[in-house]
Amino acid sequence: MKAGWEVVIGLEIHCQLATRSKIFSGASTAYGAEPNVQACLIDLGYPGVLPVLNEEVVRMACMFGLAVNATIAPRSVFARKNYFYPDLPKGYQISQYELPIVANGELKIRLEDGSEKRIGIVRAHLEEDAGKSVHEGLGQYTGIDLNRAGTPLLEIVSAPDLRSSAEAVTYLRRIHSIVRYLGISDGNMQEGSFRCDANVSVRPQGQKALGTRAELKNLNSFRFIEKAINFEVNRQVELIVDGGKVVQETRLYDAARDETRPMRSKEEANDYRYFPDPDLLPVEIDPAWVQALRKSLPELPDAKKERLIRQYRLRSDDAEILVGSRALADYFEALAAATAAPPQTAANWVIGELSAALNREGLDIEHSKISAAELAGLLDRINDQSISGKIAKEVFEAMWAGEGGADQVIRAKGLTQITDNSAIEAIVQAVIQAHPAQVADYRNGKDKLIGFFVGQVMKQTGGKANPEQVNEVLKKRLAQA
Ligand code: ADP
Ligand code: MG
Repeated sequence: MKAGWEVVIGLEIHCQLATRSKIFSGASTAYGAEPNVQACLIDLGYPGVLPVLNEEVVRMACMFGLAVNATIAPRSVFARKNYFYPDLPKGYQISQYELPIVANGELKIRLEDGSEKRIGIVRAHLEEDAGKSVHEGLGQYTGIDLNRAGTPLLEIVSAPDLRSSAEAVTYLRRIHSIVRYLGISDGNMQEGSFRCDANVSVRPQGQKALGTRAELKNLNSFRFIEKAINFEVNRQVELIVDGGKVVQETRLYDAARDETRPMRSKEEANDYRYFPDPDLLPVEIDPAWVQALRKSLPELPDAKKERLIRQYRLRSDDAEILVGSRALADYFEALAAATAAPPQTAANWVIGELSAALNREGLDIEHSKISAAELAGLLDRINDQSISGKIAKEVFEAMWAGEGGADQVIRAKGLTQITDNSAIEAIVQAVIQAHPAQVADYRNGKDKLIGFFVGQVMKQTGGKANPEQVNEVLKKRLAQA
């Protein structure tokens, strides 16, 4: 980022709500079916059909609103957003415009320097998704798949409060985990259930007025969002420095070339002629119902993080990682409850070895090959000093490979730690006798050689000797001239 410039970003997140049927029809929302088998007459926009609002989407939108401290509108209205495109048979998308169901929310994010920042959520409104154009395998033709038409979306619009690509990603990740905690979306980015458009502008540091923005589309992973914003910021700054002007337009991110390119200019696409949809009644929400819904909310990431720190004395950074997904936090809590080892040790193993193994195989925590109860068995053996932390990693890999529980693996491989003092004494004596030169150097003040001696003892025992005991015995024997 060039010095003297400030980046301004606002995100529009499209989050697919996890209902079984569509927002205005009874057709299924299941992903991956044959084209056009899940589009009923309402989704196809046949004349004379009438949409009926799926009550579940209202509940889900309100849950989100409550989770971000927003106002739930007592009365919100569906509007028609008119435009022509082949994947929109009705010629309009049903959305909310002037009166969205959720407004004036906020989210606090933690910045890299540890400080907290409030990001405004201007609104979150309900709308239906459009269909999809299909190009593959159709030669000169374009196919239309309307399975997605009418799928419920919640569009979450942030204020232009984000000041870097890193802040944008932190905010997006938090929203992503909140919708999953609430169970209102599966958040699957590959399947398009969680998509984001980034509005990006730059301005000279100190300038009050916002610069002209470009809207970046086609951002389907956290990494691409970061890269696309970085590219766009540099493009805009260079353009302005060279005497040019940023034009307000929609740009597509091309991941293969790591660049953004213009898609269409906003002016020509902007006349949506919104008006209230006469086929749908306004949504009226009873405040008592909202109160009851508030009571039913699950513990959310921020609250869970505070509790993990309080209850288990975890480091803040570790708690932050664990609450990134509800399932990961649940796994940790099950582990901490089942093992005699300290909770911080449990956290270290979940964040370290376990997460590494899951990443390596592209697995979610739900599909871990080692359950919390099984991992507790391993941590107990470290805790009672049957094995060292180093040997434990070897046992972990064997458990992961399906060779059995911790005790079974330790027994089968003969990995039990040597804690018998006389056995350690004997090996220490042998090592000392075998290395007279190093012993002399050590006694002449080369303290660092202690590491060499520990290494020799560990080698003799296949890493099984208790390291603290080895250190202690070595120091005692080496000190005796
Ligand atoms: P539109 O109606 O054209 O979609 P909105 O005013 O609803 O425009 O804003 C859409 C998104 O763009 C919001 O997330 C908002 O924060 C963001 N935004 C608006 N102006 C700017 C700007 N100058 N720079 C960066 N983001 C902006
Ligand atoms: Mg918008």
